[in-house]
Amino acid sequence: MVYLSRKLRFSAMHSYRIQHWTEEKNQQVFGLCSNPNGHGHDYQLEVMVKGDWKDRTGIVVNTTDIKQVVGSIVEEELDGKFLNKENIYFREKIPTTENLLIFLWNKINRVLQDCELHRLRLHENSTLYSEKGEGDMVSLTRKYHFSAAHRLHSDKLTDSENKQLFGKCNNVYGHGHNYYLEVSVQGIPDPVTGMVTDIAVLDEIVESVVLKKFDHKHLNLDTTEFDGLNPTSEVMTQVIYQMLSPYISNLSKIGLWETENNYFEYVAPTGGEAHV
Ligand SMILES: [Zn+2]
Ligand SMILES: [Zn+2]
Repeated sequence: MVYLSRKLRFSAMHSYRIQHWTEEKNQQVFGLCSNPNGHGHDYQLEVMVKGDWKDRTGIVVNTTDIKQVVGSIVEEELDGKFLNKENIYFREKIPTTENLLIFLWNKINRVLQDCELHRLRLHENSTLYSEKGEGDMVSLTRKYHFSAAHRLHSDKLTDSENKQLFGKCNNVYGHGHNYYLEVSVQGIPDPVTGMVTDIAVLDEIVESVVLKKFDHKHLNLDTTEFDGLNPTSEVMTQVIYQMLSPYISNLSKIGLWETENNYFEYVAPTGGEAHV
């Protein structure tokens, strides 16, 4: 089986409101997104399909065909529109990124030929994306930033082994990074709010549990989370998962960009807690 993806872009307006709720309740649940006049985003959609490549052509499906069939759905239904008013589906459902993905999945799945839809990812902006594969689950990922110093040094290695393995990163004073942290939750979107999580609450939890502790700190010297642990990005993803999981029941993944070139990911274990 081969997997391939194609990106498409569109722009759309939306407003998060439940008509029969009071203004106060809409503002409380949806915050700035409840503005009845709407606001908008430049969305980026990634369509990943799967299939076997054909003997005669060497391709699964022509990516320009994907662009065309998905592009015409996007053009007709979403691009340049105020979704709540100009798309029948979103008169009933709130056009959250989660609900947009469900809408797109059902439409795209019906029209693809020579391949199967595998995964859709929809970026609302550079700090929020939602993802969906087969089944009812939708995930939502939020991106956060912190800067921190660390020294890579393992107590289980000798000084010279540490120096040889970690090189400059073993510098006795440490060194630092601009970390970008991706926190993913997953679930079935709430039938009323169209969300798998309250983003404002998620932001507060990540801020108070992780960012406050790590931002502008030396991970080896200023935190207790890495006592006896080498604060590599591998270890950090699992430590951050364990810090957040007691507060976020549907936490599914921790992604960590150490630099623009180095990315690490910890996926929540199924059927048991992780142990460092
Ligand atoms: Zn929005
Ligand atoms: Zn480093």
